Amino acid sequence: MAMNVSDYQGIWVYIEVKDGTVAPVSLELLGAGRALADKRGTELGGVLIGSGVKSLAPTLFAYGADVVYVYDDPIFAHYRTEPYMRALLDCCQKYKPEVLLYGATPTGKDLASAIATDLPTGLTADTTILDIEEDTGLLLASRPAFGGNIMATILCKKYRPQMATVRPKVMKALRPDPERTGRIVEEQIELHEEEMRTKVLEVVRETVKKARIDEAEIIVAGGKGMGSKEGFQLIHELANVLGAAVGASRDAVEAGWISHDHQVGQTGVTVTPKIYFAIGISGAIQHIVGMQNSELIIAINKDPNAPIFQSCHYGIVGDALEIVPLLIERLKEEMPKRRASVDVKEGVRHA
Ligand SMILES: Cc1cc2nc3c(=O)[nH]c(=O)nc-3n(C[C@H](O)[C@H](O)[C@H](O)COP(=O)(O)OP(=O)(O)OC[C@H]3O[C@@H](n4cnc5c(N)ncnc54)[C@H](O)[C@@H]3O)c2cc1C
Repeated sequence: MAMNVSDYQGIWVYIEVKDGTVAPVSLELLGAGRALADKRGTELGGVLIGSGVKSLAPTLFAYGADVVYVYDDPIFAHYRTEPYMRALLDCCQKYKPEVLLYGATPTGKDLASAIATDLPTGLTADTTILDIEEDTGLLLASRPAFGGNIMATILCKKYRPQMATVRPKVMKALRPDPERTGRIVEEQIELHEEEMRTKVLEVVRETVKKARIDEAEIIVAGGKGMGSKEGFQLIHELANVLGAAVGASRDAVEAGWISHDHQVGQTGVTVTPKIYFAIGISGAIQHIVGMQNSELIIAINKDPNAPIFQSCHYGIVGDALEIVPLLIERLKEEMPKRRASVDVKEGVRHA
């Protein structure tokens, strides 16, 4: 069924709320949405669904929203697809946005795909670049495809709203301006708890010790070439002397030598440290896309034809099981000296 696209106006962001606060990705999307709305000469809207959430509207104005649509009801106390989808559908049908953006989080992805099939309209998942054509209002949603080798720009020409989920930490939130205000539109829909197919019985919070390789300045990553779990211990030891985080290829993870949160690459984490050691890693494209923007890449591999040597700044051809222990030994001597000299300089600076 064709729709009249000119009936649709405004750039919207679905506002995700966690523990009574706005999720950072939603603030980032307001920043990105503001630029799109200005280019298109239209309003930036936020859709706020939850229980006791109306008080968050001023925060959204401060971060760039012009109008905030609020569905505030105890039935929205915890995220569930059904009631949230019904509220958001109601809002889209009533106010007809041109663009609707979501964070690519578990909640955003779930809600966006439910809305896309129900409306129906197009959805681009995991976008990293957004732009809009000023005159036509066509959203240009770009994302890496084929293992990051190409960027695909995806358009939704005939259906509205044009929807995209956007990766967290890619867009920039604006500096909040507490003086900015806007319109609050309060909405309600009739929903009955007994008609809901899902009930939240309990929310379990688990503290997971994350590897946090995405924030490390130095990463020592090991691959299948370390030979065994014992061999992989050398990676931990080298990381230890350097004060570095430990990364791994998927094959090392699949061998059970280290947990998945250390995996670098297409199906792992993307990292950009100052120094990246790739040790016993062949350099498959799926690994390279996760570390190629590191400032300095040092590879150790016994195969001089390993593809990793195409992507490194320094390469050592040799057996990692021999080279890494030598490196550790040497660094154990050097690192304390370097630290001491830094301490002296710091001392002078602070004196
Ligand atoms: C859809 C998809 C997604 C994927 N996602 C990821 C991802 O996120 N991350 C990822 O890493 N992979 C990913 N892969 C897998 C990827 O294609 C490779 O299979 C993987 O990266 C290979 O890991 P590796 O380099 O440790 O092992 P191998 O390819 O087996 O390489 C081991 C290397 O170690 C060298 N070596 C052996 N012994 C020694 C020694 N003693 N000293 C020095 N060097 C030695 C060998 O010469 C070889 O180059 C994905 C694959 C697919 C299809």
